[in-house]
Amino acid sequence: MSHLHTDVGEQWEEFVRERYDPNRKQEEFRNYETATPGVREFYRLNHTLQTRDFAVGKKREYMPLSKAKMSVWEAMEKLDSLVDESDPDTDLSQIAHNLQTAEACRRDGRPRWFILAGFLHDLGKVLCLFDEPQWAVVGDTFPVGCAWSEKIVYPEFFRDNPDAKVQELQTRLGVYSQNCGLDKVDMSWGHDEYLYHVMKAYMPEEALYIFRYHSFYPCHRENGYQYLMNEHDQKMFHWVKEFNQYDLYSKSHEKPDEKVLRPYYEELVSEFLPSQLHW
Ligand code: FE
Ligand code: FE
Repeated sequence: MSHLHTDVGEQWEEFVRERYDPNRKQEEFRNYETATPGVREFYRLNHTLQTRDFAVGKKREYMPLSKAKMSVWEAMEKLDSLVDESDPDTDLSQIAHNLQTAEACRRDGRPRWFILAGFLHDLGKVLCLFDEPQWAVVGDTFPVGCAWSEKIVYPEFFRDNPDAKVQELQTRLGVYSQNCGLDKVDMSWGHDEYLYHVMKAYMPEEALYIFRYHSFYPCHRENGYQYLMNEHDQKMFHWVKEFNQYDLYSKSHEKPDEKVLRPYYEELVSEFLPSQLHW
């Protein structure tokens, strides 16, 4: 069984926060970058290996949702034990990150579906249970099948991606058409796209957008790829952007008390989801 390599995972999250912090100082950012070769190496692998064929193939492999039957709680616990095994020193478990995000939404009086979206948003990381390497689970996501935007972090690493040599995939629109809508666009494979499929039948559309695109920073933060979005995407991205602040900035608060909070989340989960989910 593979492990969720939280050493890089934690560094990556830190990196994302730094990168997208509007108040960050330029020199701090550069210092941080040189201090974390793990993040660079992570993106070197991610950008080299996430080809269109890989992403589409993984989607096809996972879409039948026939890998496992688990409740939300089983999935959370499994994810946590993976993290604990690989990195006993990590100060924040997956459950804690999910709870912190959700609790921040709750404190702000967000609707119940939004709080639940906060609680569930990273659950697609159970991909690690099925031995997916980290570069196929986490990291910023991007469309495959058209030219990579310069707004993607470390764009230079796409040089060694085999798709760089496929001319058809290197035009601005590639295999897509102007404003075709993101639902028609294949994204690099990871926990976002996967959780979207798991939750598709149960959660409101706004929450599904959050699951599917919360790591699509080149778009929701950097405003790239507008030419692939349609009007409906633009409307729904309001929620993706609203959500992002909770994902990034809820982490510094004190650790949530799992025991105290569990009954509230049990009820919330059962309001929207069946007791067993197909993964
Ligand atoms: Fe995530
Ligand atoms: Fe998250």
